[in-house]
Amino acid sequence: MDILLKNAQIVTLNDNDDVIPEGSIGIRDNRIDFIGEGNGCIEAEYSKVIDCKGRTVMPGFVNAHNHLAMTMFRNYADDMKLMDWLFTKIFPLEDKQTDESVYWGSLLAMVEMIKSGTTTFADMYFFMESTARAAAESGMRAVLSRGLQGESGEEEPDYRLKESDELFRKFHNSYNGRIKVMLAPHSVYTCSEAYLRKVAAKSLEQEIPVQIHLSETKEEVSTCIEKFGRSPVKYLEDLGLLNDRTVAAHCVAVDDDDIGILASRRVNVVHNPGSNMKLASGIAPVAKMLEKGINVCLGTDGASSNNNLDMLEEMRLAAYLQKIYTNDPTVLPAEAVIRMATLKGAKALGFENLGSIEAGKAADLIVLNTERAHYYPKHNIKSAIVYSGNSADVETVIIDGNLVMESGHLVTLDEERILYKAQKWASKLTGQECPQP
Ligand SMILES: [Zn+2]
Repeated sequence: MDILLKNAQIVTLNDNDDVIPEGSIGIRDNRIDFIGEGNGCIEAEYSKVIDCKGRTVMPGFVNAHNHLAMTMFRNYADDMKLMDWLFTKIFPLEDKQTDESVYWGSLLAMVEMIKSGTTTFADMYFFMESTARAAAESGMRAVLSRGLQGESGEEEPDYRLKESDELFRKFHNSYNGRIKVMLAPHSVYTCSEAYLRKVAAKSLEQEIPVQIHLSETKEEVSTCIEKFGRSPVKYLEDLGLLNDRTVAAHCVAVDDDDIGILASRRVNVVHNPGSNMKLASGIAPVAKMLEKGINVCLGTDGASSNNNLDMLEEMRLAAYLQKIYTNDPTVLPAEAVIRMATLKGAKALGFENLGSIEAGKAADLIVLNTERAHYYPKHNIKSAIVYSGNSADVETVIIDGNLVMESGHLVTLDEERILYKAQKWASKLTGQECPQP
């Protein structure tokens, strides 16, 4: 579909950080083919024209670390320590997940993400073909990974790695390049050294990027030092798992040496402030990592440790948390946080042609209703989005040139059915009664 967005305030996030007070954007063949002030193109040439008077158009958000089907356990087990939460509540329930429960849990996450302006996500979970099916249906841009954990070295057959291979073969660069696949060893505490070496060799051999949880807590770091005499960052470097295609989630408990390694290896770091605060994991030294030139982007982590997938909220949490951590209100200004939530996430996930509104770039855009009280009076639109905006402002979402939400109504997904099915499956998994509506 050819789409023209007219009369829009446009936050471009181009190199000059231009904001166009009133302009138009033309979309053809999944790409932005025109952007300019006023109405510099012929309306009749577009099959769909959206009047964005009083609206702000910006690049869609990139949620660079998530576990979609964990929406199934949202608000099921809260206020617990990470390891206790994982090993006594989450892992046992995850053993009960099926391809259908993951499908509906993934769709539930996608409804929430689209409605809050996220156009791209990275997922690390299992039954990933169900999530791929859901991503194909929803129209979302996705990086999918079969979560890997294990002890085996070369000798034993490994069904997880086999499923990961299958996922890569079937879905990598599918749907016009909208869906990609990565390798995802879960962490240094759930994978043995032999196993991590095996994943590193596969990554190198087949040029598949890796995403992993890294230095999420002090406990993870001290256990790693006890066992291997090195921090998790140094350990992964020695195993050959750190490079410019590695996406490392959390990096909370990192010291200056670790930050030096992450910078020199050009590792992409995903900051998850909501999850880190809720699980009391600590505060990632984001300002310091950015200062060292590390590509730091943003993620929500799964919905049961956040407990939502709202990137607008995540931006605000990131800014506030870093200011209080450094005792410096000038760190992580709104402009920097918006880039973390868009362009930097796109770069981390290997979507180089994404994250800003420029001619030739992929058309992943969101339209915010900024004609609301909390955007008045109008001074600085980026500050307003980060510090005053909320996800209810997101009206229209375009991904890969296709309308997936228009004026608050989902185009590709049946929201009511998804909510119903997700509740049914969650009740089945947890063994709790399905509450009456
Ligand atoms: Zn995670």
